[in-house]
Amino acid sequence: MPLIRDSSSVRVEDGTATVRGWVQDVRNMGGISFLTLRDRFGTIQVTMPKKKIDPELFGLLTKLPRETVVSVTGDVKESSQTALGLEIIPTSAEIYSEAAVPLPMGVVDKVNVEMDTRLNHRFMDLRKPEVRAIFELKSIMVGLIEEAVRDCGFTQVFTPKISAAGAEGGAELFKIQYFDRPAYLAQSPQLYKQILMSTGLDRIYEIAPAFRAERSNTNRHVTEFISFDGEMSWIENEEQVMAMIEEIIDRVLRGMKERGAKQLAVLGKDIAVPSRPYPVLTYSECLRIVNEAGLPLKEGDDLGTEGEKIVGDHMAAKGADLYFIAEYPEEAKPFYIMEKDGTPYSFSFDLDYRGQEISSGGQREHRYDKLVARMEKKGLDPADFEFYLDAFKYGMPPHGGWGIGVERLLVKMLDLPNIREAILFPRDPSRLSP
Ligand code: ATP
Ligand code: MG
Repeated sequence: MPLIRDSSSVRVEDGTATVRGWVQDVRNMGGISFLTLRDRFGTIQVTMPKKKIDPELFGLLTKLPRETVVSVTGDVKESSQTALGLEIIPTSAEIYSEAAVPLPMGVVDKVNVEMDTRLNHRFMDLRKPEVRAIFELKSIMVGLIEEAVRDCGFTQVFTPKISAAGAEGGAELFKIQYFDRPAYLAQSPQLYKQILMSTGLDRIYEIAPAFRAERSNTNRHVTEFISFDGEMSWIENEEQVMAMIEEIIDRVLRGMKERGAKQLAVLGKDIAVPSRPYPVLTYSECLRIVNEAGLPLKEGDDLGTEGEKIVGDHMAAKGADLYFIAEYPEEAKPFYIMEKDGTPYSFSFDLDYRGQEISSGGQREHRYDKLVARMEKKGLDPADFEFYLDAFKYGMPPHGGWGIGVERLLVKMLDLPNIREAILFPRDPSRLSP
């Protein structure tokens, strides 16, 4: 007897099998009843011809509340009536955990449930194969990112998430009480990544939570997300950083199609792999595109949601899903970005995926004096950043890097409507539980 499927919850011996899972459905059709059991791999049918089953067992199994967790042992029969080609005729059963009635929300009902309700009962929502598939794909994606970046010679690092200072200044920082003094949750590993560039660990990456105290209620902002950060030394320009990101994303997209094929099928999605190289637009070109579309942005303005979308539509018409936006005004970028001397621009870029920013990066300022000058220009007090600036005083190679929002990448890849779909237990200004 072959194993029914590669599930730990199914065991087969001599034509009998034990299946374990959640009761998805019980149908009583008079002389025969059917119970559909669900586990991580799918469903299996338990078939109960009333006359052939012990009456007590029949009574037990036909009255089980939906979503109860049970173990059923019985004879395995081939069946042309079920998807698996098999069914089980039960000989014994055990109830592990009976589900209360009514359920807070349905698992297989076709009714539309509000996102808030789904997130309030996320454990229930995650019983849906199409919801679970997203998180299996997220796991596959992070695995692919790590493979790609390690193959390129990057070392994984872990930097602190509790800190005395933030990377980009005050507004987006969550303040916490650290014994008898204030501290902040890391909004990015930026400062630590750069400090490490002074050590000889010349290619590093980190995949870790980042916290932003942003009161934005949008479909792409949350207060806690996973950031995939990289930093590399000995670069001559920011284009080398862009080339590295492109290499990684291309590998990830290809890998997802292959390793995620099962989950993509559950979602009914396909992933397009754009041709390389990804187009590069300058910020000034984007301003022109946006202005022509009637959005009155001026030099130095952030493109914003609407601007990004206009540029996205413009690029979609050219068949480009992924494209870089380079040469931002230095004014619009953080202090650690290198200025393009003699111009109002900087060696910075964003990577946008169908009208939405998924990454920011650039060449960093590695020259101590210029870095301090840039901090002052941005209204920051260098004294607050001594621990960071010290690393630039005693030998710092030229370097650059990026931060990619893991959930934003997944959301665009799978064309999901909201970043919360890609986070098990999302955190936003109004949600702190579950
Ligand atoms: P945006 O302008 O879209 O708010 P940002 O420019 O403020 O993003 P960065 O500081 O450049 O964000 O952070 C690097 C990356 O981290 C972004 O490109 C994005 O993918 C991700 N990211 C930033 N903020 C958030 C957030 N609040 N929720 C989810 N992902 C985020
Ligand atoms: Mg950005």
